[in-house]
Amino acid sequence: DYDQYQKSGRGDSGDERHKDKSDRATTEQVLDPKTRRILFQMINSGIVSEINGTISTGKEANVYHALSSSEDLDTPDKHVAIKVYKTSILVFKDREKYVTGEFRFRKGFNKSDNRSMVKLWAEKEMRNLKRIHAAGVPSPEPLYLKRHVLAMTFLGDSKGKAAPRLKDVEFTDEDPVSRWRSVYIELLAYMRILLQQCKLVHADLSEYNILWHRDRPYIIDVSQSVEADHPRSLDFLRMDIKNVNDFFKRHGISVLSDKKVFQFITK
Ligand code: ATP
Ligand code: MN
Repeated sequence: DYDQYQKSGRGDSGDERHKDKSDRATTEQVLDPKTRRILFQMINSGIVSEINGTISTGKEANVYHALSSSEDLDTPDKHVAIKVYKTSILVFKDREKYVTGEFRFRKGFNKSDNRSMVKLWAEKEMRNLKRIHAAGVPSPEPLYLKRHVLAMTFLGDSKGKAAPRLKDVEFTDEDPVSRWRSVYIELLAYMRILLQQCKLVHADLSEYNILWHRDRPYIIDVSQSVEADHPRSLDFLRMDIKNVNDFFKRHGISVLSDKKVFQFITK
């Protein structure tokens, strides 16, 4: 948070600190000066017209709801989601395994430099989302990237209410089990496209990183996703499969065995 950030000595000059004092009591107080500057730039350059409350505050990132007035952004209802990656060192320590062996990110990877590391995660999410979106797998479309701040299409209703995570979805149909079964099958198909077409393994796939939007499972949170040729990609795939299978099992679906799913996705 802001205070932590200032104390860590990585903050801006005393001048900046002074300037910020007056509005530190506002909702912006959790944002460090650099992040605030990027968000203000986004408003000034017309990418978004206003930035509203948080959709989610997490360990690794905060996600904000924003509105766009830009004609250039083809976003339904002009709602935008802005993901701000956190720059604290602890969060990124255990992420190293995803980067090691990643050819795209070998160059420029410097674990001693927090900020550039976080910037890498944001870049990675942008590129992965682009690929996934281009392949037709339901996912947010990345719109704009500036350092560790990524704007993407908002998943949710026209009033700005964010789509629920799959873990929080309840079907009120007559036959919820058959509904869940078709969601399961659809998801397996997306996992297969992810690998075969996008050459990616999500590597953190679970009911927490799937949003239920417009009657479809949308895949989000792909900054840690790895290339199919990553040395551990198939380990990550097995973990993804286990998470997905466990979730659907809990909904009473007779799922395929992990092994069968693995074969379906990889073959
Ligand atoms: P943390 O692990 O710290 O929570 P994260 O890296 O998991 O952050 P995400 O999973 O990408 O971040 O996003 C966090 C939450 O924000 C999601 O669970 C979802 O509820 C919401 N969210 C993310 N992207 C969008 C979007 N495009 N539209 C609507 N809501 C979103
Ligand atoms: Mn997540």
